[in-house]
Amino acid sequence: MSRPIPGLAPHRLNNIFCIGLNYRLHAKEMNSAIPREPMVFLKPNSAVIFEGEPVLLPSRSSDVHHEIEMVIAVGGHGKNVTDDEVAPLIAGVAVGIDFTARDLQQKAKSQGTPWSLAKGFDTFAPVSRFIRLEDAGDLQNLQLTLNVNGEIRQQESTSDMIFTVREVIRYLSEVFTLQPGDLIYTGTPSGVGPVQSGDSLTATLGEELITLHVDVA
Ligand code: MG
Repeated sequence: MSRPIPGLAPHRLNNIFCIGLNYRLHAKEMNSAIPREPMVFLKPNSAVIFEGEPVLLPSRSSDVHHEIEMVIAVGGHGKNVTDDEVAPLIAGVAVGIDFTARDLQQKAKSQGTPWSLAKGFDTFAPVSRFIRLEDAGDLQNLQLTLNVNGEIRQQESTSDMIFTVREVIRYLSEVFTLQPGDLIYTGTPSGVGPVQSGDSLTATLGEELITLHVDVA
């Protein structure tokens, strides 16, 4: 049975959906075109860790990158949802990091193969505690800040997202039945870069609204 989500009882971790290239400056730094519809991939829920658990660097990669992202937790079942049905589906809002083995991802891109390995290692999806939607404010006007060893590496507003949370949830629900305990990583702003053993990361959403500390083992 999957693990409970801290602060979101009785929900347990279910599917982990992720949106790639959802900020213009990040698409540019990846030399990628601006997507015309949300670019979706999944991580296994075994990749999720919570506050206090370290990130482990896999021996298969020598270039693991941080990607700070706003994370949405799903609290109900949703299929082909309308605009009005989006907010009631959201059980919580958090900040997370979509760790990515960039070398394995580049190899997969060049070979046209899936990103599952590059994105799916154990510990590659840290997530903070969740707060309620009504306590989060405007989801499309929150600052994301990632600090590594005291230095700001990523800082951008969710107002720069190409596809909003509402658009992402509506799009996902056309394909998948959204279920309680699903998490949605909504994409990273620009400034992604490598991490090394011993690094200490602090991810913040909003003005100190939610903070996640992660150490790289
Ligand atoms: Mg990402």
